[in-house]
Amino acid sequence: MSDLSDLYQQVILDHNRRPRNRGKLPTANRVAHGDNPTCGDQCNVYLRVDGDKIAEISFDGSGCAISQASASLMTTQLKGRTAPEAQKLYDEFHHIVTTGEAPEEISDLAAFAGVHAFPARIKCATLGWHAALNALKGDAAPATTESHND
Ligand code: ZN
Repeated sequence: MSDLSDLYQQVILDHNRRPRNRGKLPTANRVAHGDNPTCGDQCNVYLRVDGDKIAEISFDGSGCAISQASASLMTTQLKGRTAPEAQKLYDEFHHIVTTGEAPEEISDLAAFAGVHAFPARIKCATLGWHAALNALKGDAAPATTESHND
């Protein structure tokens, strides 16, 4: 068993205590819901897409510390990004949480590197990202982690 303190790094604790961009976004023009039944995590992501950029982003939901902190951190990373940039960030984040390898230039996302030692929690960490990417595609269908191998 790996050290749990590695999993709950300071960045994760901070986002869990003081979530960023939490709550419904009144101006949202895209919304997607994410559901992680294996852990009981729920997440809604609200976007206001302006042109090809995410002008505003927020989330709400309930679930474990990992899922909520990850969604909070995600909103801070995706604001102002285009869809291809958001996909690229997700790919990097996914690499971090599945391998534990973090490129040095991605500081906050690297806080989730410890998740890779707990495979069941990878779905918690990626839930908000799946919902955000679905919202970006204009897909209002619920994002469920059950259809993914990650
Ligand atoms: Zn969870």
